[in-house]
Amino acid sequence: MNERDYNQEGNNQGEGTLQPSPSSPASLPNDLPRTRPVTRAAKPTRHRPSREPRHAMANQPASQRTNNFDEVALGYTLEQATAEAQRCLQCRNAPCESGCPVEVRIKDFIAAMIGNDLPAGVAALKERNALPAVCGRVCPQENQCEAKCVLAKRGEPVAIGRLERFLADWDRSRPENERNMTKLQSCKHKRVAVIGSGPAGLACAGELSLRGYHVEVFEALHAPGGVLAYGIPEFRLPNDILEDEVAALRKSRVTLHMNAPIGALASCEELLEEGFQAVFIGVGAGLPRFMDIPGENLNGVYSANEFLTRVNLMHAHEFPSWDTPVQRGRKVVVVGGGNVAMDAARTALRLGAEEVTLAYRRTQAEMPARDEEIEHAIEEGVKLLELAAPLEVVGEDGWATGLRLQKMELGRADASGRRRPIPREGEEYTHPCDTVVSAIGTLAHPHLREVADVEVNEWGYLAVGEDGQTSNPRIFAGGDIVTGAATVIEAMGAGKSAAIAIDEMLDASGSH
Ligand code: FAD
Ligand code: SF4
Repeated sequence: MNERDYNQEGNNQGEGTLQPSPSSPASLPNDLPRTRPVTRAAKPTRHRPSREPRHAMANQPASQRTNNFDEVALGYTLEQATAEAQRCLQCRNAPCESGCPVEVRIKDFIAAMIGNDLPAGVAALKERNALPAVCGRVCPQENQCEAKCVLAKRGEPVAIGRLERFLADWDRSRPENERNMTKLQSCKHKRVAVIGSGPAGLACAGELSLRGYHVEVFEALHAPGGVLAYGIPEFRLPNDILEDEVAALRKSRVTLHMNAPIGALASCEELLEEGFQAVFIGVGAGLPRFMDIPGENLNGVYSANEFLTRVNLMHAHEFPSWDTPVQRGRKVVVVGGGNVAMDAARTALRLGAEEVTLAYRRTQAEMPARDEEIEHAIEEGVKLLELAAPLEVVGEDGWATGLRLQKMELGRADASGRRRPIPREGEEYTHPCDTVVSAIGTLAHPHLREVADVEVNEWGYLAVGEDGQTSNPRIFAGGDIVTGAATVIEAMGAGKSAAIAIDEMLDASGSH
């Protein structure tokens, strides 16, 4: 292969029609910006930050959106995005970037927006984030980059996530030949296997492909994306956004194998024997944690994973056009207070439930879900039942008819820093319902033992060093299967740093 830098186009087999990279001056078809500026963009000349308040983003009205699965948040217009970018102070040290697990070049992409150079903004944004349209929608920015923005001290940080979403969507709207193509390094003729196509696996595959590796991703399900595809509903993350960002990966040196469960087909050790030089495991932690209470086996009781997968991945809401059934409960109780619980409750509403209640053992203030998600759920009509812990699913003729709950009160803070819920003796009651969805967390799947013979920690997650290396030096891991349930961008950060470590290891070993 030619040693110059190339973008590959048009297939997912690793080799393809080669196009000169936009970074090669002789080949520039137009005035597209360089994809990887070496230096930090200069502060926009005469930039006087605007003192306007943070710009709100339009949403579908609550009364309308519970009748459809269309995206709730509608995104900024160009005018709103430009006005929001103008609020950025362009701080010398950009503290916002240290709050982002992949250190997106926030200051630079905003500087480009201030200077009306959207292509340069896209290039700066995509340099460190392979899934910006996804992250702009689902990252908990309020706890990450936006929490570090100096304007957060006044309670109004720059809306970094919304700007990221705007730029990524703007890039998607461009004709294919004008879109930002990330520069691939010359081919190293080495193969790496990635197990799982969630954010950790995709980020690892993207980074390795960029660094010159042929990457084969093995995914157990029929569609790529992990939780992004089967967990997060379309009204928060439309499937076409994910498909578009995965399609960009397919155009690099990444091959995706669907319906390919590793462990059943082959182990990671066998993949190494077959000629892969390294393996990355990003299989997530998708085993539902059950409530472990009587009546949990009654009809009408779901884990949030199953409930959401039936709708998001298997189109149960389009039954009978699609042949996946799901119970369309009239009165639904969702147990939990995290993002997963909000997604399940809002999905139940869209399936036509008359009443959806969230039962949570602490209060709204302690709920781990994003504030925005809680607000959206309440606006849509989801009721909160605070200080309520499940005791038993009661039923008749094999079907759930109610959830018996224990009234709780808050005691002292526990190890998580949140006040511990304590049962109030003798205060039990039954909440009538026909559907119960349990959203109380997930665990590592026991099939991990068949995937790879490497060390696990006391909770059953993979034990890794700082760079994601497991007890087998050629097997790396990252994402939820290492940390337990976390966030999309943390999984991506882990996938990316493991890719860098794999590259360094293979370069150092001169492996063929
Ligand atoms: P996953 O996304 O779980 O992907 C793992 C993939 O590996 C899956 O596709 C799985 O099928 C595949 N796999 C498993 N075993 C095998 C095998 N043996 N062989 C081949 N493939 C295999 N985070 C946020 O930041 N913001 C949110 O708003 C948010 N909302 C969420 C909503 C829901 C409903 C859920 C469940 C999670 C949410 N999260 C959110 C958390 C976030 O999605 C996860 O932290 C993240 O997806 C973890 O990424 P991962 O790549 O480690 O694993
Ligand atoms: Fe702009 Fe805030 Fe980042 Fe400073 S911290 S560069 S104001 S986004």
